[in-house]
Amino acid sequence: MIDSHVHLNRREFAHDRADVLARAAAAGVRGFLNVGYDLASSRESVDLAGVDPRILATVGVHPHDASLLADPAGRPSASGRDALAELRDLASAPGVVAIGEIGLDFYRDLSPRPAQRTALCLQLDLAADLGLPVVFHIRDAYPETLGLVAQAGLPPRGAVLHSFAGGPEHAAWARERGCLVGIGGPVTYRRSALPAALRAAGVTDRDVLLETDAPWLPPEPHRGRRNEPAYLAHTRDALAAVLGVDPAALTVQARRNFARLFGRIPAALDVSAGPPIE
Ligand SMILES: [Zn+2]
Repeated sequence: MIDSHVHLNRREFAHDRADVLARAAAAGVRGFLNVGYDLASSRESVDLAGVDPRILATVGVHPHDASLLADPAGRPSASGRDALAELRDLASAPGVVAIGEIGLDFYRDLSPRPAQRTALCLQLDLAADLGLPVVFHIRDAYPETLGLVAQAGLPPRGAVLHSFAGGPEHAAWARERGCLVGIGGPVTYRRSALPAALRAAGVTDRDVLLETDAPWLPPEPHRGRRNEPAYLAHTRDALAAVLGVDPAALTVQARRNFARLFGRIPAALDVSAGPPIE
């Protein structure tokens, strides 16, 4: 399995990251996409991917941190231009496969909404310019985000709707455009609306990525604790049941989907790339 959305750079993993990766390997999780959400975490993601053939990276500014790129009225700021230039630089590092996580978050509203919209548009342009796909973070803002993407243009390389929590119409939006939906721990929750939404939209195993979003969003039966990639099989098994496919087949298909969207899989998993250089 590949954990397609994880934050191994977080301080929650600072004291035991090697153990976390060893437990992940023992649980069959041997590839990771470490997702940036501000400048520091984007740099850390690039650094992790640079030293570990199991890890690929994204760079981007999360809607919570949109004030990095734009002022409260949504005008691109001078410091924002520097930040965007640094993102562009970081994106040229060898392990970077996408721009993200970017989007709108009207649940927490940690940055003013006009700044969120501008940060999203600037980074959609960046992704299109660099020929990279994007990782969307959308919370309580599906119509607004997808509307803005329709205006600004979806980057040609496509996208994943990470930690998908939309309705059937939003899953259908993704399918119609060849985009993927990232499925995490919430699919294991008893009251989750996700299984019904996925079924109603006709989502198949060709449309999904598996993710933990660790250290957040642990699946059952680990709720209330730090999440880690070793728990991904709970999510894989629950999703396989929703989609009516065999868990092992879903593992293989999700890896293919990862390769299709991001253009490659981590070198450690890519047998065609030869033995990993230690
Ligand atoms: Zn995330």
